[in-house]
Amino acid sequence: MTIIFFALHLFNFFFLKNLAISIIKKKEITLNYLNIYNNMSSEKSKVYFGSIQHGIMFPFASLAAKVDKITEMLIEQTPIEQKDKIAIKMHLGFADGYQTIPVFFVRRIVQAIKKTGGYPFITDNPTAVYNAVNRGYTQETCGCPIIPVAGVKDRYTTPVEINFKGFDTLDLGGVMKDADVLIDLSHAKGHGACGYGGAIKNLALGGYSANSRWMKLHAVSQVAKYWDKEKGTPELAEKLVNGCPYRTLRYDKENNNLIRNYHDCHQCFTCLEIDNGLGAIKVPRESYSAFQEMIAISSNKVLETFDLEKVFYLNFLTQITAMCDCLGTGQPPVVNDIGVLGSKDIVAIETATLDLIKEEGLIEKHIPPYFMHANLDPKEDLHPLTRLHGPYKDPYEAVRFAENLKMGTSNYDLIEILSADETKKMDLPGKFFEQEPSFF
Ligand code: SF4
Repeated sequence: MTIIFFALHLFNFFFLKNLAISIIKKKEITLNYLNIYNNMSSEKSKVYFGSIQHGIMFPFASLAAKVDKITEMLIEQTPIEQKDKIAIKMHLGFADGYQTIPVFFVRRIVQAIKKTGGYPFITDNPTAVYNAVNRGYTQETCGCPIIPVAGVKDRYTTPVEINFKGFDTLDLGGVMKDADVLIDLSHAKGHGACGYGGAIKNLALGGYSANSRWMKLHAVSQVAKYWDKEKGTPELAEKLVNGCPYRTLRYDKENNNLIRNYHDCHQCFTCLEIDNGLGAIKVPRESYSAFQEMIAISSNKVLETFDLEKVFYLNFLTQITAMCDCLGTGQPPVVNDIGVLGSKDIVAIETATLDLIKEEGLIEKHIPPYFMHANLDPKEDLHPLTRLHGPYKDPYEAVRFAENLKMGTSNYDLIEILSADETKKMDLPGKFFEQEPSFF
């Protein structure tokens, strides 16, 4: 491998890269090598953008046409072989949540992938898969099977080493490991634990069993000490529990332990005011960062099971709600629909997604009243999702960790496909109306 690495320096970059990739089979690839390779390139990554805005009221200019075009372009850049098993990792939502990626688009993407000769399937956690029918996702509507990521009992897993903050391994969904190709199909929205959930979160949390998701990935925020049992009394603990406006603190009387649910903490610091300088409770910044770093690591571990040439990303910036689809309820969109993004680079697509959301800004009247400390001060240069979730939940943080892990580059070119300016000048086909079959 070292020889190949130095050869790349000496000879034609692109020729040798393609040659190396063609001769090294998926499971034998040392992903570190590819990461080193990618890091050597100073080129920007391409991010394709299809805007929700269209230049003319015709299907050829619509978001559906842009999704088709971007999917087609990414498929062309992905060496999918006949009979490859193609995992489409989605979040299929829960309960009454209806704002996940519409089956209308999922079906089109599945149909496009089928043309390659590969076998696509959609995957997510077993609960979301089992109840997906309630939100319109079935084999018939999507056009391909929907398979639980870690089997029907959530135990079909394989350990991956992470050695992070006292956690040795995570249980990767076996289905992810079995697949030859990965399409990370994500809905961009807010997230309680880190401010933003998109392509990284979709793999980082959704690629693992529930045990890893809850007992390790989310639990990593608990690593820093924030309750001093010596200084804190049961009376103070009760005051803190009752005083937290987000009801995110819980007191375990038996062990004199105060437990914070970091997902729901908005860093309003009311608890510090109640503590009044005693130092019994802290709001440690590193706890919030630990989750961001953990999801960068765990998403990288998913990607390490694939040949990166056989991976691409699609982010839907539609129905951008403040909280994640896992909460299982409809929410007012807090950012206007923006469109769709596609890329071969996870860091680039996440950066572009966050930049576009920042540019769009919040729909202030849609901010739910339970975001009691939303910072709407225009003088502060904050991302809209930080404004909602608090100063320690910076949506770019996980992306920066991902870039440090050499998962991609935040340096990107945004390439708009079928822009409104372009389509408004196009020759018009005959008027299009749905006529057949007709009821008349
Ligand atoms: S910072 Fe605010 S939301 Fe977080 S635990 Fe303290 S009081 Fe609750």
